[in-house]
Amino acid sequence: MEKLLPRFLEYVAIDTQSDPYSKTTPSTEKQWNLAKKLVLELHQIGMQEVSIDEHAYIMATLPSNIDKKVPTIGFVSHIDTTPDFSGKNVKPQIVKDYDGEEIILNKQKEIVLSPDYFEDLLQYKGQTLITTDGTTLLGADDKAGIAEIVTAMEYLVQHPEIKHGKIRIAFTPDEEIGRGAHKFDVEKFGAAWAYTMDGSQVGELEFENFNAASAKIQIEGKSVHPGYAKNKMVNAIGIANEFLGLLPPREVPEKTSDREGFFHVHSIKGEIESAEIQLIIRDHDQEHFEARKQLLHDITAKLQKKYGDYITLNIEDQYRNMREKVEPVFHIVEIAKEAMESLGIEPIIKPIRGGTDGSQLSFMGLPCPNIFAGGHNFHGKYEYVPLESMEKAVQVIVKICELTAVQIK
Ligand SMILES: [Zn+2]
Repeated sequence: MEKLLPRFLEYVAIDTQSDPYSKTTPSTEKQWNLAKKLVLELHQIGMQEVSIDEHAYIMATLPSNIDKKVPTIGFVSHIDTTPDFSGKNVKPQIVKDYDGEEIILNKQKEIVLSPDYFEDLLQYKGQTLITTDGTTLLGADDKAGIAEIVTAMEYLVQHPEIKHGKIRIAFTPDEEIGRGAHKFDVEKFGAAWAYTMDGSQVGELEFENFNAASAKIQIEGKSVHPGYAKNKMVNAIGIANEFLGLLPPREVPEKTSDREGFFHVHSIKGEIESAEIQLIIRDHDQEHFEARKQLLHDITAKLQKKYGDYITLNIEDQYRNMREKVEPVFHIVEIAKEAMESLGIEPIIKPIRGGTDGSQLSFMGLPCPNIFAGGHNFHGKYEYVPLESMEKAVQVIVKICELTAVQIK
């Protein structure tokens, strides 16, 4: 376990930011820098069948050490960090024996990480926190996950007295731009199920996520001199405004929680001659999700009737709730839950208000709940991770391997 921290620090020092505008996989060349290092390291710790393909997907095997036939299980995390915030020149600060006061991230720029604002910090009094220097993100999302998986595998290699079946691990590029699962070879991975190590605080265990779609509404207008515009001008801005007015005003991200779905308008551009609205639809419930899409069609039809064919709607599905794929094999959640409980960790099971690579993998035939990796405040300068949380994640991985070998026939 003593290698966990240095390992994590080595990973976050390598910039692996992904790029949504790139068409290649990985989306950025620099993700290879960490990928190649990981391949070497997996060999070094004694993993077998270590492979990396032309898209930087890494897979490796820890062979079974028992005679009994048990299912092959997997653990997955991602190499890239979000395009939303710089991951270059990450200079982590290590705060030992955290005193519960505010932490100065950057004296010069007066950036502090304060429990007044981030109350979660108070859970970690006395622990070792790893923070940023206030100028970059940390990259615990998801390099904490990678460090935990590597450390757990090394631990199992060094402790053959812990009995387990065949374990597969994978590290993927481009999760943050929604493509981490796209080129994942589920058949080659060959696991009955897997876990992404990509959640936040200790205890998180997630197998439900949003159904997600994006929509684009394009409106054409007709510009005429305002003095002579009567019955002639079609103002695209006005129609866009009317469209927005027909959406349910309370069903927005800032007014919903838990299992409540929403429409989220995130962009509107407009002139008289043309306007464009972009929004996303999110809902855990499949039926409600479909009803939301239908509502957009209905509003479009209504405005078309009123103004003519000046308005077009385009909806694209993004990802689906993995619950329907995980429920039929619910023991995979039970095992993770039991692993946590046996380590004195209280499982926090709640629906994710977002998506994970695990949802795509689940629909590709690899049921894949998500487990905590320990970090907080992802995708920005306030990101931090307690070392103790990462240690617990390592223990959970080891315990899941152990329990799978004992319980599953
Ligand atoms: Zn992540």
